[in-house]
Amino acid sequence: MTTNNKLPKTKTAEKSADCAFKDSSFKDGGFKPESTSAGEMLQSNTWLSRPVPRVKRHSLPQLTAVETEPSTQCPQCHSMITNTALIFNSYVCPHCDHHLAMTARERLADFLDQIDNELGQQFTTGDPLKFVDSKPYPHRMLQMQDKTGESEALIVFKGKLRDLTMVACAFDFRFMGGSMGSVVGDRFVEAAELALEHKIPLVCFAASGGARMQEGVLSLMQMARTGAAIERLRLAGVPYMVVLTNPVYGGVTASLAMLGDIHIAEPKAMIGFAGKRVIEQTVRETLEEPFQRAEYLLEHGVIDQVVHRHQLNDTVYRLLAKLMHI
Ligand SMILES: [Zn+2]
Repeated sequence: MTTNNKLPKTKTAEKSADCAFKDSSFKDGGFKPESTSAGEMLQSNTWLSRPVPRVKRHSLPQLTAVETEPSTQCPQCHSMITNTALIFNSYVCPHCDHHLAMTARERLADFLDQIDNELGQQFTTGDPLKFVDSKPYPHRMLQMQDKTGESEALIVFKGKLRDLTMVACAFDFRFMGGSMGSVVGDRFVEAAELALEHKIPLVCFAASGGARMQEGVLSLMQMARTGAAIERLRLAGVPYMVVLTNPVYGGVTASLAMLGDIHIAEPKAMIGFAGKRVIEQTVRETLEEPFQRAEYLLEHGVIDQVVHRHQLNDTVYRLLAKLMHI
């Protein structure tokens, strides 16, 4: 019964639709339902003719530079600084004056006005001790080289600061904590020998965790080698200046970083031999905050001057010019 009831209704609907298409004027190239059942159906659909409700447009706040450009967060005051502003400001936070870390190449590019050539690229690291900690030493080296784009932790350039030709080297702390292995020693000695040969000053930007444990006694030997190279400079009257940047520790502090004619440090740089926690455990005392900071060392006569990064180039130039009798 139910199917019988439905069937005639469907047929009637089809018939009326047929009539509608026959009656409608397709001649004009459009479907114009007029006084037809389909047309009435469309006209009855009020949602088609209903005006579109007005969309409320919220005025969005204008994006700031740190939201549109690659930015870095200051580790001290946590404010975001665009990388462009940071490079322009020599990696000093414009809000709190914190000195952020720089790579060796950024450091030397910021320091030297003219770069002639790079030294020490011929030295490559071997694995004489076949050292394995969580991974083999050669694997660790490859990983570091991929990460930093550098072949070792010390970069050496010969170039000019204003009219003063010099050899400048910088540690890259990203590369295994700027640790001193045999290649770092080789490069430093080559830098010192070039400075000695041409009687031009040597400047070293130190940032290191110390000797490289993966090279064992070979890394410790670099302390003596670099010390001997610096002594040759001293005997020849060639100035050697050290700029201590955050942080300098271990075997580097115990050798080349503390053997300069003049020691300059950046504000709040951490400088020491053993770490603060190790000393606290040994002497069973709590050491207050300025301990091992550059300002603390200046107070206690370990270094000569604490210089803001913006005044560093001028200060180094002035002191070297004085030592070179220019
Ligand atoms: Zn800051």
